[in-house]
Amino acid sequence: MSEYDVLGMARQQLRVAARYLDLDDGLVEVLARPKRAVTVNFPVLMDSGEVRVFEGYRVQHNQSRGPTKGGLRFHPDVDVSETTALAMWMTWKCAVVNIPYGGAKGGVKVNTKELSIRELEKLTRRFITEINIVVGERSDIPAPDIGTNAKVMGWIMDTYSMQAGYTVPGVVTGKPLELGGSEGRVEATGRGVIVCTIEACKMMNMPLEGARVVVQGFGNVGSVAARLAEREGAKVIAISDGTGGIYNPNGLPINDLYIKYSGVEGGIQNYQDCTKITNKELLELECDILIPAAIQAQITKENAPNIKAKLIVEGANGPTTLEADQILADKGIIVVPDILANAGGVVVSYFEWVQDLQNFFWEEEQVNDRLARIMRAAYAGVAEMMHLHKTDMRTAAMIIGVKRVSDATLMRGIFP
Ligand code: GLU
Repeated sequence: MSEYDVLGMARQQLRVAARYLDLDDGLVEVLARPKRAVTVNFPVLMDSGEVRVFEGYRVQHNQSRGPTKGGLRFHPDVDVSETTALAMWMTWKCAVVNIPYGGAKGGVKVNTKELSIRELEKLTRRFITEINIVVGERSDIPAPDIGTNAKVMGWIMDTYSMQAGYTVPGVVTGKPLELGGSEGRVEATGRGVIVCTIEACKMMNMPLEGARVVVQGFGNVGSVAARLAEREGAKVIAISDGTGGIYNPNGLPINDLYIKYSGVEGGIQNYQDCTKITNKELLELECDILIPAAIQAQITKENAPNIKAKLIVEGANGPTTLEADQILADKGIIVVPDILANAGGVVVSYFEWVQDLQNFFWEEEQVNDRLARIMRAAYAGVAEMMHLHKTDMRTAAMIIGVKRVSDATLMRGIFP
């Protein structure tokens, strides 16, 4: 379980938005809970011949605006309460960028580093079989998250299709291109983070060119965000992965680091022309832009007072705790919240799903262009709401997201 109560945090964020919207208590109660939460326990025959039982979840938060959508996380800290918080954030995220989905999330409590590729495949196929009573291309569509990738999504598509008796590419997104994936999906979240960074820099009158950027996490989100920031002329001075951070005030050669060290034993620590730092030190570095792109609850009341960035763009889900949010706001640090900043992934997942349903595929330029347009429009909407209510960006984004969802929920009414 996460040490920090992320579900409590997600619910408090909802309550703040509900106050601005003057929502009825009963409606807030509905939105504070998941519509459906499935817990499964299932066996996997390990390479050693031993049988291990794994626990997994699929939580669907709200489906008023469409089928539920959200990633599958394979991580030792996954539990039902964290998964519920992540599903809630997916609901607001889809609403903020105005795509026709509700939110869901799933996961398996597992350390994938301890599994062979064969064990990972067996675990994935059995897990999707266990949750396929709630998953479907018209009802709930999984995608990658921490610990899962395109290969895993391919196995999911195949397993679901084998049981359906025909190929169902639209049941999962983030698939390999060969299996109905979309151009641009792998880079989409990091690309969306940088579109938001560009917009935020304009809003703050801060040039991105030459800006000192620090990125926590060098996975799918952080590595793309760092590379695109470098391409925009920013100076990425520190990055980190599970092994810790590396820092060079003159800038790191991000593209080279990505090509040579990501995914290899020892990771970015193999690079020499830098100072080795911890993940904690990294967050407190003197810089202009901080992009937390690892996991939740990284910026806390302990380190928030020491954060020197002028702008924080949340690539991860829930990286800033409630207490830290307040401290950052008091310090005048702008935080582009997760439900806006990292929405690029689910936006291109939506494009992938649309392409799969139509069996008609787009070019990468078209995907990137449409993604950027959606992100810019969502950013502008949130910035406007922020000025209107004289509040921080997270509250503004929550007001927009919660309003769209509550409007749809009310219009649909209560069945029966
Ligand atoms: N796991 C990603 C997220 O947190 C993507 C979800 C999706 O594409 O459905 O936004």
